[in-house]
Amino acid sequence: MQRITILGATGSIGVSTLDVLARHPDKYAVYALSAHGRVDELAAQCRAHRPQRAVVGTPEAAARLRDLLSDFDGAIDIDHGEQALCDVASSPDTDTVMAAIVGAAGLAPALAAARAGKKVLLANKEALVMSGQLFMDAVREHHATLLPIDSEHNAIFQSLPAHYGRDLDASGVARIVLTASGGPFLHRAVETLEHVTPEEACKHPNWAMGRKISVDSATMMNKGLEVIEAHWLFGAPAERIDVLIHPQSVIHSMVSYVDGSVLAQLGNPDMRTPIAHALAYPERIASGVAQLDLTQWAALAFHKPDMERFPCLALAYDALIAGGTAPALLNAANEIAVQAFLDRRMGFRDIDRVVRRTMDAVPHGAATSIAAVMDQDALARRAAERIVGAL
Ligand code: NAD
Ligand code: MG
Repeated sequence: MQRITILGATGSIGVSTLDVLARHPDKYAVYALSAHGRVDELAAQCRAHRPQRAVVGTPEAAARLRDLLSDFDGAIDIDHGEQALCDVASSPDTDTVMAAIVGAAGLAPALAAARAGKKVLLANKEALVMSGQLFMDAVREHHATLLPIDSEHNAIFQSLPAHYGRDLDASGVARIVLTASGGPFLHRAVETLEHVTPEEACKHPNWAMGRKISVDSATMMNKGLEVIEAHWLFGAPAERIDVLIHPQSVIHSMVSYVDGSVLAQLGNPDMRTPIAHALAYPERIASGVAQLDLTQWAALAFHKPDMERFPCLALAYDALIAGGTAPALLNAANEIAVQAFLDRRMGFRDIDRVVRRTMDAVPHGAATSIAAVMDQDALARRAAERIVGAL
């Protein structure tokens, strides 16, 4: 029996994870669930999945969850805050941690899981973008197992040799190719992007996801963050990571080998596939996803991304090449900018402006410790807020 903690259980990835777990009650038990605000949904999940522990954001939310579960016959320990998230992620009573909190808030508990040597299923790409070297060092030192949930990285993982050692040349890998749908604005006239609404930006053509990652997909910052994520996961330098627009999202990413072979993972766009893959790895379990029917597709298309339409992608490559805390600054500025756009405090095209101006305003340093990274994160958030206010 694998005992699972799900950080961010009420989100899109959290819900898909519970769906897969519920198909295999003989293999998995839920140890802990966390949510930030959606306490009613968390209460329903607790009734259905019977975790031993639940964690929410505030003391008020914890009181409300206790109230909602007052007539529940199971015993659930209810707590709140970051330390409680770290506790359920590192407890000796859990084997596997699904890190599916969105944004920088997910870093501390994901790192706690790695430091406790857990099997870490990483959806929270922002954690790796912020602290890549430190995170990978923690995984190695504490013998944690890190499995990517992001569909592209999961596809690459599946297309690499079984015991890949984060060395492209040693495995005959020429290039890593991340596919990208191009999001909802792939064909929209660039001049009209200034005026798109949060609703339009969140309407992804192929995937149903949380609002932050949906906006990131519309700007292609998501792909930029994924380039940085691929760099850390697979030990690939920026110049050997390509991005290829593939609007149908059937090929989830590819690995090109020096002999001319290209290995890819294909499937319907449903996150339950990478989630089931990582949960059962190295075995395979049913995920509830329908088999891919390639006869449904008249053609699959591929082309290079237009960096003028998607300046965030170029900004992310620049941050990766700059190194140190530059990716953490990029991530923090982007989180502030996306929230300001979702709150209708600024337009869609202001997202790349705010990120660029924040990167120009805050000099990056060395990412020597998590504290140094968090200091830079805080500096970048303050600078980005000032820049949003002055637009
Ligand atoms: P979501 O917004 O649907 O869910 C986020 C979860 O995090 C919720 O449970 C929420 O309660 C929790 N949360 C939010 N803010 C928090 C905070 N400050 N402290 C603690 N918990 C907090 O997001 P999602 O789409 O499920 O994405 C989660 C992560 O997975 C993101 O990092 C995203 O980039 C990544 N990811 C998602 C998908 C997808 O298909 N949704 C695909 C690849 C990667
Ligand atoms: Mg992805």
